[in-house]
Amino acid sequence: MPAELVCFSERCRARYPVTEVIYNCPRCGGLLETAYPPAADADALRTLWRERRLSNAPLDQSGVWRYREFIPFLEDPAQVVTLREGNTPLLPAPRAARYAGLDAIVFKHQGFNPTGSFKDNGMTCGASQAVRLGMRRVACVSTGNTSASMAAYASAAGLEPIIFIPHGNIAYGKLAQALEYGARTFQVEANFDQILALVRTLADRLGIYLLNSINPFRIEGQKTIMAEMLDQRDWNPPDWVVLPGGNLGNTSAFGKGLRELHAMGLIRKMPKLAVIQAEGSAPFFTLTHTPGMQELDPVTHPETLATAIKIGDPVSWPKALHEVEASGGVVEKVSEQEIADAKAVIGASGVGCEPASAATLAGIRKLRAAGVMRADADVVAVLTGNVLKDPDYIYRYHTGQLDGPDGRRIEATFGNQPTVVPNDAGRIAALLEG
Ligand SMILES: *Cc1c(COP(=O)(O)O)cnc(C)c1O
Repeated sequence: MPAELVCFSERCRARYPVTEVIYNCPRCGGLLETAYPPAADADALRTLWRERRLSNAPLDQSGVWRYREFIPFLEDPAQVVTLREGNTPLLPAPRAARYAGLDAIVFKHQGFNPTGSFKDNGMTCGASQAVRLGMRRVACVSTGNTSASMAAYASAAGLEPIIFIPHGNIAYGKLAQALEYGARTFQVEANFDQILALVRTLADRLGIYLLNSINPFRIEGQKTIMAEMLDQRDWNPPDWVVLPGGNLGNTSAFGKGLRELHAMGLIRKMPKLAVIQAEGSAPFFTLTHTPGMQELDPVTHPETLATAIKIGDPVSWPKALHEVEASGGVVEKVSEQEIADAKAVIGASGVGCEPASAATLAGIRKLRAAGVMRADADVVAVLTGNVLKDPDYIYRYHTGQLDGPDGRRIEATFGNQPTVVPNDAGRIAALLEG
């Protein structure tokens, strides 16, 4: 039995061939996921995956395709487009741990990817599926990192990348990448959710393959972040995996990945997922904290400087809800000030990340203070994007010029201003000694 697409909705569970070009269930409109027959035995996989780290073959060097038995949706490996994504480090950060009130913390830093975010883990799979389907043009709507990643992978595969971004709502580093990687780029006067509806219409009309986060193959690639993290920890699961929540694709991917690894016998215990949202863009937090609420209520005007999680109507919420509940996890929200300060602490730990990623540390600090997390908990926080994605934010914060979306100044609690000095060794020495 080959891979299939299965409707995620409990009441439907319709099945489709993996080669069908569909983004939602044609029968009920539900989300789709990729399903496979049961995989080989756990010990053999552990050994095989570890051995591949010594190989020079491109697929083995990819931190996604090294785990290809975990994502077996392609039949022909020649269709894979890889930029050697994944292979991201686990970085301990004692200073960040102290800030959050933990004995220790480890960051899984997805910003070390080829285009600087975890979107590469998924995009290698989405782009490969596009090649397999014989598509020539691919499109996405994105707050930034998806477009940067899609542009790179599509161009590497010889496909034409088409990108739609909300006008004036994107971090500079990300837009620059999309242009440099050769994407046709449209800035639309609408918010993310409105543009998504527009692009779906265009994709159907023009036969363009959609590589948005709803794409089930991207989710498959993002699952391998959990496989790689656990492989790096010799299959010893942490107590918590903490990540920021925007469209909630990553939450869905991590949950699916951890459940499947558990079912395959690769881990004995399920880590809890902690999903952190920005206060001004927290519909998933509201859903999980409102008794009796069954459906997500979209936020019409999402606001946060953490543009990667500025999403009012997250498409993957039904999956994410299932995964948070199945893992016994939690959802938290944090303020702009908390994100900015946590980000500076991650930077001062020598690690660095973009604003959305820092929501993790801010959220952990809150969960720790509330007693949800113990001081001695084994915590892996996923830093989703690279520090250089949003340099404007950094400069403003450190120089006390960063204003929140409501226009209120964000305090430079851990500000680090450059000092203007004369060309005078004596005066500089005096400053350094003082
Ligand atoms: C895309 C992105 C997120 C949000 O991930 P979702 O899967 O949409 O929840 C968070 N941080 C960064 C840096 C991102 O690029």
